[in-house]
Amino acid sequence: MARAIARVDLDAVAHNVRTLAAAAPGARLCAVVKANAYGHGAVACARAAQRAGASWLATAGAAEAAELRAAGVAGRLLVMGALDAEDMAIAVAAQADVVVWDEGALAALPSHARVHVKLDSGMGRLGTRDPDQATRVVEAAGERLVGVMTHFATADDRQDAFFEEQLARFATWAAPLRVARPGLLVHAANSAATLRDAASHFDMIRPGVALYGLDPFGEDAAARSLRPALALTSHVAAVKGCAAGQSAGYGRRFVATVDTVLATVPIGYGDGWRRATTGHAEVRIGDRTYPQVGTVSMDNITVDLGPQNGGRVRVGDEVVLVGPGLSAETVAARSDTINYEVTTALLPRTQRQYHRAGADGDGT
Ligand SMILES: *Cc1c(COP(=O)(O)O)cnc(C)c1O
Repeated sequence: MARAIARVDLDAVAHNVRTLAAAAPGARLCAVVKANAYGHGAVACARAAQRAGASWLATAGAAEAAELRAAGVAGRLLVMGALDAEDMAIAVAAQADVVVWDEGALAALPSHARVHVKLDSGMGRLGTRDPDQATRVVEAAGERLVGVMTHFATADDRQDAFFEEQLARFATWAAPLRVARPGLLVHAANSAATLRDAASHFDMIRPGVALYGLDPFGEDAAARSLRPALALTSHVAAVKGCAAGQSAGYGRRFVATVDTVLATVPIGYGDGWRRATTGHAEVRIGDRTYPQVGTVSMDNITVDLGPQNGGRVRVGDEVVLVGPGLSAETVAARSDTINYEVTTALLPRTQRQYHRAGADGDGT
């Protein structure tokens, strides 16, 4: 029996691709499938996104791009991260476009490479903050130039006006380039920007988190017509009494105050269920919600079934950790993180299963 299962609904991914595409009419959609598609499985999600109309895919690293190609995924592909010479060679060999912002990196690339020039409009990580340098790289790229891009730091915070500042800086820089170079692909918007401001759409949007039905603002995904793609389940491996004064788990962080019944569930931080959920999470078994109690360990959690379990919960019963009524946003808010991390944290020991509208599939 699998310890933990992440069931991924590829129809939900397709639905979310269409929802985001409809929010940005006229723009192409680049599906960001980095970090194993935020834990959902890169190859299966890339294919589902392409079938639903995504004309580009993006990863953070070159190895991720090579992995997609090795699985037979075709189509336009962009590696967004910083790459050393070796990674550049891997990306170019995988027929992926790469991101550059200085003339040295550009000069080292072969003539058949395809590049996107990145202006750092305020994110402060990759790209150049100097618009003149970015323009010089654009000019030096010649036939290799495909696009120009930037990335927002605060698109998910609607109170923060820095987003508008970044957008204005990028738009001002890109405007003459667009006129001078018809066909240039101008792109900036992550999921939050896509849903926040049509002025950020330009020629292509680059959503990641929203493709998986996770709300980029950490709020209610359903209110934005996004469908969560992932359900995380495990099962009851043991049920036993815990008398008042007895404890469960490392550090005895749970001590029963009344006689109760505990279920042990074989999922822990070794499966990607974060230790930070200690003391904060709830799970669903059948039609009831129960508190997770005690320290999350590597291989197990314990759940307090309450004194009156009376045989209702049995060994083998399914335990839902993320699913309907128990969103990744809720888990994140309780454990001081973001929904992105809840799914991306899932480790290989969590088995991925794919289905479409309830029908099982291998994700191909
Ligand atoms: C991760 C990433 C995205 C997607 O961001 P989401 O918030 O997941 O939509 C887009 N662009 C770049 C450069 C990224 O690193």
